[in-house]
Amino acid sequence: MADLSSSIQKGDWKKEKHTPVIEAPEGVKAGELFDVTVSIGKEIAHPNTTEHHISWLSLYFLPEGGKFTHQVGHFELSAHGESTKGPNVGPVHTHHRVGIQVKISTPGTLQALAFCNIHGLWESKKEIGLI
Ligand code: FE
Repeated sequence: MADLSSSIQKGDWKKEKHTPVIEAPEGVKAGELFDVTVSIGKEIAHPNTTEHHISWLSLYFLPEGGKFTHQVGHFELSAHGESTKGPNVGPVHTHHRVGIQVKISTPGTLQALAFCNIHGLWESKKEIGLI
């Protein structure tokens, strides 16, 4: 049986529309808040329809030299045009872009995981240093 990790896909976000794009500073001051944005489809748009959409995004932080990752945030993207009148005609769609403020005390790696309801799990990462 295949491990879950073998089902997590990755790719260059400039060519692969499912790869999460993590936007954050290269370096931050310890203990100071900074903005992190995670989005899907920054270069190539991903659909956002009742039948095909990004269901959730999660952000993690792995401290440098650490073994265990820490969950920073989990975002359910719940509205995709569902309606009593049928699919895609509902009044609201949640777009697949989220922002959060974070502070860290050690350098490490931000890790993002996204789930497309059709195309499964996708990951990406971004290193953050201390200045
Ligand atoms: Fe997809």
